[in-house]
Amino acid sequence: MTLSCMSCAQAGTSCCKNYQVNLTTGDMHRISEFLGHQDFSTIEPPVLEDIEPKYDPDWLPLIVRPDGMVRVLKKDRERYCTMLTPTGCQLPYDRRPLICRLYPYTYTEKGIVGVDSACPISKESDCQSVLDRLDMPLEKAKKCLALIYAEFKSETFEQ
Ligand code: SF4
Ligand code: SF4
Repeated sequence: MTLSCMSCAQAGTSCCKNYQVNLTTGDMHRISEFLGHQDFSTIEPPVLEDIEPKYDPDWLPLIVRPDGMVRVLKKDRERYCTMLTPTGCQLPYDRRPLICRLYPYTYTEKGIVGVDSACPISKESDCQSVLDRLDMPLEKAKKCLALIYAEFKSETFEQ
């Protein structure tokens, strides 16, 4: 965990809290293969203020299932993601939901648009260097972005 992430976690403002982290079928496969079970996801109504990216008008139609619900990571009673441990996410980077891998970049299908102002990293003068050190350089983020939209667009919403 970075210093910023640790401060966030201590302040209870971590990005691993409150959000509805939407899962593609690819996410489901990658995570369940690692955990050995599927008890990490749930189907619930979309909560607009908890959804990322809120600012992309094309996003909601991609993630909402035919029954009007969304498939997301489970949260605990305090609304923390159940994958979160005191030392950070229990999932290795390449098993995390694609949405988690791309955060704190902000984006639409057309490309990366910035860094989420809710994340303290965005306030650092060397923001891009911090992201590079976190192994999320812009080029890697762009590949992740392409995968997110490709997976949601080909979604079959299997359970
Ligand atoms: S990525 Fe940003 S918002 Fe998330 S825990 Fe780290 S510093 Fe906080
Ligand atoms: S899967 Fe990991 S990175 Fe994503 S919200 Fe949960 S704890 Fe945070």
